Amino acid sequence: MEIDAPYLRKTTRSAQLYKEAAQWIPGGVTANIKHFEPYPIVMESADGAFLYDVDGNSYIDYNLCYGALLLGHGHPGVTTAIHEQLSQIGTTIFGTPHKLETEMARVLVDLYPSIEKVRFTNSGMEATLLAIRLATAWTGRKKIAKFEGHYHGSYDQVLISVNPKKRDFKERPSVTSDSYGLPDYYSENTVVLPFNDLDQTADILKKHCDEIAAVIMEPIQGGFIPPDRAFLRAIRELTRQYGIILIFDEVKTGFRMGLLGAQGLYDIVPDLTALGKVLGGGFPVGAVGGHQNIMELCSPTGGADILTAGEQHTSDQNKPLFHSGTYNGHPIVLSAGLATIQALQAPGSYQQLEENTLQLRAGIEEILRRYHIASQTVGAGSIFNLVLTDRPVRQIQDVLETDLSLRRTLDTYLLDQGIFIKPLNRFSMSIAHTAAVINETLERFELGVKRLTG
Ligand code: PLP
Repeated sequence: MEIDAPYLRKTTRSAQLYKEAAQWIPGGVTANIKHFEPYPIVMESADGAFLYDVDGNSYIDYNLCYGALLLGHGHPGVTTAIHEQLSQIGTTIFGTPHKLETEMARVLVDLYPSIEKVRFTNSGMEATLLAIRLATAWTGRKKIAKFEGHYHGSYDQVLISVNPKKRDFKERPSVTSDSYGLPDYYSENTVVLPFNDLDQTADILKKHCDEIAAVIMEPIQGGFIPPDRAFLRAIRELTRQYGIILIFDEVKTGFRMGLLGAQGLYDIVPDLTALGKVLGGGFPVGAVGGHQNIMELCSPTGGADILTAGEQHTSDQNKPLFHSGTYNGHPIVLSAGLATIQALQAPGSYQQLEENTLQLRAGIEEILRRYHIASQTVGAGSIFNLVLTDRPVRQIQDVLETDLSLRRTLDTYLLDQGIFIKPLNRFSMSIAHTAAVINETLERFELGVKRLTG
């Protein structure tokens, strides 16, 4: 694809390093999502709301490591906590239980009404994987249901219908996998549901109600498309009625929609919750929490007892549900996470975040209106997306059907202006994005839009 953007002339070192990386790393990136055309910009340092690349350019960062950095880069509370932890414990990791695991577990149990016990993992995807395994063991059923367009990680079971085309569910109910190399088993055992469409979702759940172990969902799709309140409430009721475990994947929304994530915002209690991103303060982390009987299934001492006590059915009663990980509950990671939660608990921090996000969204919408570009910002809490349509956005297909090449061009011009947004991605805010940073963003944004409209 030909891209004409002045930033390419000022990121020649990035281009060179990317080429070098591609000699040793497939596609030059360690996660496919980090790639964009013609090459991703290579960063060297960061501070607060800003990223600095290897050519010496600075950017206001709205990617924030895909939303993980709710406090911005290098927050002093987080950096102090990890240095102190390192010097206090005299190692990087024990490989045994330690006090911070219990401290973080207690914090999560105190905060979330849905969480009675917690296990830690090293990523959001490991958390959703464990949650699904718990649900499968608890119910003795083998299918899972997921919503179209919802992302839960890059493993086989959930890499299905993540980037769907609009379709009629009744005419084409089959599911599609999003990667080569996935055995058919997974698409055969995954039921796909349409987000924000209660009638069809209810029909499909009814049809498969005896086979489905779990409904896993991002309560706010992609972190930015809000659910209808009634829709979310109905999913809770239907799953309860059919004995299906409801898993809220709050990897993106946890701590971003307030301390209690989307479940707090919508006042819904799921059976299991997957957390990640913000919880690690910028380090790799995940956690699963939920009802203690379900969580106890992964206890090396207690799981089988619970199942034989007849709470639910399983055909593998004598095998414990296996969950492990060399680095689970890493002390440095948890110290960063605890410092992050502490900073977020400061009075007014969420109110400020929300006010700043709304100010930015209103400013962006006002500029695009003046330049006659049909558009809207869609979001919740401190995440939003810019969608170039004035039609309602209720599902991911409503975004995928807009003029994505226009949006991609705009994103390229925003990079020119020093606004870092991974093309076509969401905008994430942090507490480092002050009113002054937002005003600066809006000035730069208008220059990008001016160029777009020629
Ligand atoms: N679930 C959701 C909702 C996510 O947004 C992501 C990552 O973007 C994941 C799970 C996977 O998390 P991780 O990248 O930490 O494995």
